[in-house]
Amino acid sequence: MIEIENVRKSFGQLEVLKGIDLTVKKGEVVTIIGGSGSGKSTLLTCINGLEPIASGKIVIDGVDVHAKSTDLNKLRQKVGIVFQQWNAFPHLTVLENVTLAPRKVLGYSKEKAEEIAVKQLTHVGLGDKLKTYPTRLSGGQQQRMAIARALAMSPSYMLFDEVTSALDPQLVGEVLDTLKMLADEGMTMICVTHEMAFARDVSDRVAFFHQGVMAEIGAPEQLFGNPQHPETQKFLSSTR
Ligand code: ADP
Ligand code: MG
Repeated sequence: MIEIENVRKSFGQLEVLKGIDLTVKKGEVVTIIGGSGSGKSTLLTCINGLEPIASGKIVIDGVDVHAKSTDLNKLRQKVGIVFQQWNAFPHLTVLENVTLAPRKVLGYSKEKAEEIAVKQLTHVGLGDKLKTYPTRLSGGQQQRMAIARALAMSPSYMLFDEVTSALDPQLVGEVLDTLKMLADEGMTMICVTHEMAFARDVSDRVAFFHQGVMAEIGAPEQLFGNPQHPETQKFLSSTR
């Protein structure tokens, strides 16, 4: 379970998270929507300890992410994150890129790391690209490789930050299908996305962020069908 309690965060004078509360239970899919600069990415980077917070608390399976005693490497094995773009090592094959973290971070043997990497790459539909170099992959394939790379660490939670935003429109579907597959398999995930149809389709709950505040959260039917907050209404009418 991910428990976010009254989290505040500033960059200099600018407060970008103004008291965020959110609990994500095991198996739940929560998507976050909202305008640019509303704090969506910042929240994700705080959740896996990439960024410190000013006050409040983020607790994952009982571990306080920002406590001094917390082993962030261990935490990040548990909480995978995939961004808009991941720069794979161009001189390594797809398989080698995906085995890197299990070998270096988990200390797995080459054989064991490859076994896991092959499994995850096959899972995201790249079983025939093991020996390919990343630059030869399409954008959608590169994003699926990034997802396989995160999955190779056997995370309990996955965070996705606009993973389709940098893709040509015709490549968006294959990546969203991969996310949907993970959701159907019961992965606990938080997805920041601009893809409203996807959010409506896969989410247990959808959160709308506005200027560092979670203005509204609810079931997709509720949030899309009958938004309560004026800013949610404004945002949704601008995306239609
Ligand atoms: P979103 O993902 O919703 O577009 P972000 O979380 O990226 O929003 O950013 C929220 C606000 O914080 C924005 O005003 C952004 O400019 C600012 N911000 C984000 N990261 C940094 C940083 N590393 N340093 C300074 N300001 C930042
Ligand atoms: Mg962002």
